[in-house]
Order: sequence, then C-alpha cells, then structure tokens
Amino acid sequence: MTTYPHMLAPLDLGFTTLKNRVLMGSMHTGLEETRDWNRVAEFYAARARGGVALMVTGGMAPNKEGGVFPGAAGLYTPDDIANHRVVTERVHDAGGKIAMQILHAGRYAYSPDCVAPSAVKSPISPFPPKELDADGIEKQISDIVTAAARAKEAGYDGVEVMGSEGYFLNQFLVTHTNKRTDDWGGSYENRMRLPVDVVRRVREAVGPEFIVIYRLSMIDLVPNGSTWAEVVTLAKAIEAAGATILNTGIGWHEARIPTIATSVPRRAFTWVTKKLMGEVSIPVITSNRINMPDVAEAVLADGCADMVSMARPFLADPDFVAKAQANAAATIAPCIACNQACLDHTFGGKLSSCLVNPRACYETELVVTKADAAKVIAVVGAGPAGLSAALTAAERGHKVTIFDKASEIGGQLNMAKQVPGKEEFWGLVDYYRTMVAEAGITLRLGATADVAALADFDEVIIATGVIPRDPAIPGQDGPNVLSYIDVLRGKAPVGDRVAIIGAGGIGFDVAEFLVTDDSPTENLDEWLEEWGVGDPEETRGGLRAEGPQPEKPVRQVTLLQRKAQKLGKNLGKTTGWIHRAALQMKSVQMIGGVNYERIDSEGLHVSYGEARENPTLIAADTIVLCAGQLPERSLADALDAAGQSCHVIGGADVAAELDAKRAIDQGTRLAASL
Ligand code: NAP
Ligand code: SF4
Repeated sequence: MTTYPHMLAPLDLGFTTLKNRVLMGSMHTGLEETRDWNRVAEFYAARARGGVALMVTGGMAPNKEGGVFPGAAGLYTPDDIANHRVVTERVHDAGGKIAMQILHAGRYAYSPDCVAPSAVKSPISPFPPKELDADGIEKQISDIVTAAARAKEAGYDGVEVMGSEGYFLNQFLVTHTNKRTDDWGGSYENRMRLPVDVVRRVREAVGPEFIVIYRLSMIDLVPNGSTWAEVVTLAKAIEAAGATILNTGIGWHEARIPTIATSVPRRAFTWVTKKLMGEVSIPVITSNRINMPDVAEAVLADGCADMVSMARPFLADPDFVAKAQANAAATIAPCIACNQACLDHTFGGKLSSCLVNPRACYETELVVTKADAAKVIAVVGAGPAGLSAALTAAERGHKVTIFDKASEIGGQLNMAKQVPGKEEFWGLVDYYRTMVAEAGITLRLGATADVAALADFDEVIIATGVIPRDPAIPGQDGPNVLSYIDVLRGKAPVGDRVAIIGAGGIGFDVAEFLVTDDSPTENLDEWLEEWGVGDPEETRGGLRAEGPQPEKPVRQVTLLQRKAQKLGKNLGKTTGWIHRAALQMKSVQMIGGVNYERIDSEGLHVSYGEARENPTLIAADTIVLCAGQLPERSLADALDAAGQSCHVIGGADVAAELDAKRAIDQGTRLAASL
C-alpha cells in the first residue's frame, strides 16, 4: 500500500500513459549550452531512472531572435536534431518520457535582436524590443511550429509551449506589453490569437499522438495582468486548439512578488490552479514550491490539479519518485528552494547545480564509486561540509566516524532554520540525520576530538567550521552586546531597539529574525497579504489594490555596514531583492558607509567617511555583532604541529564568502577522491 496513491496513479492521455502524476518542470541549467550531449543525456537519464513520469527540457529557442540570450540552446537547424536524439534515446532506454520546451523570450531576450508585440522595454533587460510587423509575427509562429516538428523528429515525446512567465506569447495577452491595433492587438480575442494559433499549428504539424503541453500564466502578478475570465477563455481556446495538457505558470519574471524562493510557503499557488479545474477537460498541472511527496500528494488529493510539476527537487534528488514509491521519503534530499546553486548560477552565466546535491548537472564528472580499499575515516564537525564528506565516504564503502562537540548534527544549519522564511532547513537537517543513520556512520556527539583521539584513523577530515570575527569596537563587551549566535539560538533577551553590526547573509537573517513574530512562510493567508497577492477572480493579475500589507515589525532594527554600497548587494542574485524588500516592508533602516566609534549604554555611536565626520548615535537597547567569521582551525593546527596529516574543508578552510553550497561541494568532492 503506497502512502501516495494520488501522486503515483498513472495518467492516461489516450495515445500514451504517464506512469505517475509527477512532471519534472523545465529548468534552464545551462547544460545544453555546453554542447556536451552525452552530459545532457546523462542528466535526464538519471532522472528518468529515478521514476519521474515526464520531464520537460530547459527552454529551447525556436530562432535566433527568440533565444533568452545570444547563443542560447535551441533547435535552430535540422543539424541540431541528431544532438537532441542522443538525449531522447538515453531517456527512453532508461524508461522515461521527455518533452522539449519551446521558449521564445520576446522582450525578455538579453539581446539587441529581441522582438515583441510592441516596442515596450522590459525592466529586466537593457534591450528595447523591435515591434514585429504581420510578416514578422508569421515568421515567429512558423519557427515555433518548425521547432515542434523537429522535436518530434528528434524523438521527444512531446513539446511544452512556453506561454507564461511574461515571455513572448504571454506578452501578446496583456495590454501592458501589447499596444497593437491590428489583428494581434486590441480586443482579448485578438491578443490571444497568437498563443492559440501557435498551439493549433503545432498540433497540425506534430499529429494527434504527440504530447503538447501549454504553460499558461494563471496569475500574472504584474499591473494590468490578465483577468481570471481571460485566463479561463484562453485555457478553453488552447484546449480546443489541440493541447494535451495545461501547465501552470505563476507570475511574470518582472513581478515584484517572490514565487519560488524559500520564504514562499509550500504549495503557495496551488489554489490558483484549482480554480481552473472543471473549466477544461484536459489534465491540468500545478506547480511552485511543491518539494516533497507529502506536499504533492496533498495537492492532488485536494483536487488542485491532475498532476504536479516539480523542477528544482529533481536537481536535489533524481530518485525522488523511486524513493517515494519505496516509502522512503525521509531519504529524499530536499530542495530547500535556496536558488543558490541553480537559478543564481543560471543568472550568473554559470552551469546550474544544487546546494544539497553537487552531482546535479555534474553526473558525468563527479562520479562516486566504491573505493578500492575501505579506509577508517574520522570527520570532525557535523555541519554541512563534514556531513557531506562523511556520507560520500560511507557511500564509497569507508568506515566513518563523525565527531562534534554539539549535542546535535547540522552545525550552522541549526541557526539558519531559526530564521523566518528559512524553515526548509529543518528538513535538510532531518535528512542528514536519517542518512547518517542509514549509512551506518558512527556518530560521536558531545565529543571533542583531539590529536590523540584521531591518531588511529587512516584519514582525518577537519570540518570544524567558523568562529565569529571580533570587530574590536570599544564597548562591545558591555551587557547590551550580543553575538548572532546568542540571538539565533534564542539564548539571550533582545531589546526593542536593535542595531546590527554587519549586513552580510547573517546580518540580514538576524534582522528578519528580530522583526518577525510568526513566520508568514508558515501561514499562507498572512503571506499573501504581506506581499499583496489577491484572488485573480477579484483583482486583475492577482495584485491587491491596497498593495503589500506586512505585519508590523516587532522591533525597531537598524542594519549597518562600513562599505558605502547598497546593503545586501552580495546576497543571492535571484533572492537578494526579496531579502531587501522584506526588511524594507518591516521598516528596517539600512545604513552603509559608517565607522563604528563605540558602544555605550545609549547605543551605538557611528561616524561617516574617512574623516570620521558627522558623529551620530544609533539609539539601541541591544547591539548584535554579525561582522563575519574566521576559520576555526585550532584542531587542524594541533594536528599539523603533531605531524599528523588532515584534510581541512568548509569554513575551517576558508571562512570568507562561506555558504553551505561551497561546504557541501567541497566535502563531497574530497570524499569522492579518498
Ligand atoms: P559576510 O557575508 O562576510 O558579512 C560580514 C559582514 O560583516 C559584512 O557586512 C561586513 O561589512 C561586516 N564586517 C566585516 N568585517 C568587519 C569588521 N572587522 N568590523 C565590523 N564589520 C565587519 O558574513 P556573514 O554575514 O557572517 O555570512 C557568512 C556567510 O554565510 C556569507 O558568505 C553568506 O554567503 C552565508 N550566508 C548566506 C545566507 C543567504 O541567505 N544566502 C544567509 C546567511 C549566511 P563591512 O565590511 O562593509 O562592514
Ligand atoms: Fe533547490 Fe537550492 Fe538545490 Fe536549487 S540549489 S535545487 S533551490 S536546494
């Protein structure tokens, strides 16, 4: 008897059957741009072996002007077909199904060649688009149809026509981006002509027995977005035009509302998809912040959709579905929705991977094999670096002991999980606990390892983490000064007015922790209100007229740094704006370019500039030090002095710019080589 009867039920599409209700949603990983088709094939084949019913590739451009950036992968010429066939054959051999997403970026293309219904520049691209004439529109449709026909020839089981997230097809639908007065603009009937024509002509080109998914923007989350009546009209027209399945798109890329970040509640938008159930007779897929089998099961059991789409969870764990089938969900590496190794990489021009699974997109390069000879390995430190090294070493057949002086595993992850909006870290620590037990690793908690205790191990891995940097501010030893550790571990009372010294990842986290009472991430209604998301049936595009309505901050917080630049500049590329916006909504004052002069009972005294001018008191009851961190190397140094070799990883190696992504990657790679 399965725990997930809805999720694991097959879905009959008439001409083919999907073996369960799980779609791996499209992700732009950058893999296709490597042109290493063996590597691309292995990425998808690994997920096919893991049991997902249907996968959608990253967006493939139908032509040069539609590419997300110059050189973006696509099916531009018949020559590309053979490359894609490498992928489809490998997936089919692995028992999977795969559809190719056709993505025309329109005005979102990062290219001077970009085209759009009207010459309205997007706020997220520096290039104003060229307005298409009627022939230009016909060329775009014809190129999309050709790409679909080529996809079929390349062996794909279907295509997904990308009609959401504010891309080209979506741009025709709303008056904000479509100012045309010809047959392609004006009335809604005219504005939806392009997507409907595309689907109709794609269906004509590929025949009846080929999956055509249309990804439809169900809530635009931008001003002047579609009304719900328009969404339903479009869905019905797309069904009539021959689509097999409707997938859900949530929010345009230029929306100022987070839609997939970790602070977005789980399944935050499945209620939107549910509104469409019953309006069409083809299967409907829902998506966004569904990351575990129990969440997917509940979404389907609640009748929100016929199928669920998960994308990033398949970077975190290719075997997601197989593990759910085996009732072993606790062994699924959870996607914590951090974006740090996936979307932040994509938008930084780097290949995607995954914070919790550094093997994602590196399947052919980071290979974990059985070791020739089993070694006895000590790992000191049960933070992300130590845990990933220990698990990989154990997977290879080594006998591993972990030492940590704390009473629980997780290291700094245990602080992160206290931060409102970072609740997913609880699941990550739980996962590590399960895996350590499953791997038969000896866990010595509450144990301080010294040189003598480590003498008999074949290999010693030091992952002792970091210690807080001492900012050496006069008065910092006063009773009103706390370290971030005291605050996040909830050990010390914090006053009503707080000054935070240091505005890195931890300074921002501490600010969020101190201004928030109950986390809106745990309360969907509150979260929707906080960000101003309304019912699209009542308000166009799902934007509430009154805008964001955040809860009042529970403290008055000032966040400071010495650098004279925007605070939070170095936070995640795709999430930094969310952290900044969240704190601004809570009236956190952000001040850069300060010198810390002294702390006394009144608060923090600062000055400005090299000449230390304009002395100012930041009145505060509590001052929290978040001034960065230094490597904790005392044990590594002691081993060195005793002539005992060791490997130093994670924060103990380099503390600057440390995050769990680097720690886990380094731990995994080291253990893969021992
Ligand atoms: P950090 O990002 O290096 O920031 C340290 C802060 O302390 C900076 O604002 C810095 O700004 C200030 N600082 C440095 N030296 C100082 C000194 N001597 N006196 C006073 N202030 C000083 O370090 P962190 O905030 O501790 O975070 C550690 C790592 O964890 C980060 O690299 C981050 O990536 C990761 N993390 C990430 C997230 C996330 O959301 N992705 C969250 C938490 C932590 P000035 O030098 O300008 O004063
Ligand atoms: Fe999920 Fe973070 Fe991995 Fe991306 S990097 S797949 S968001 S855990």
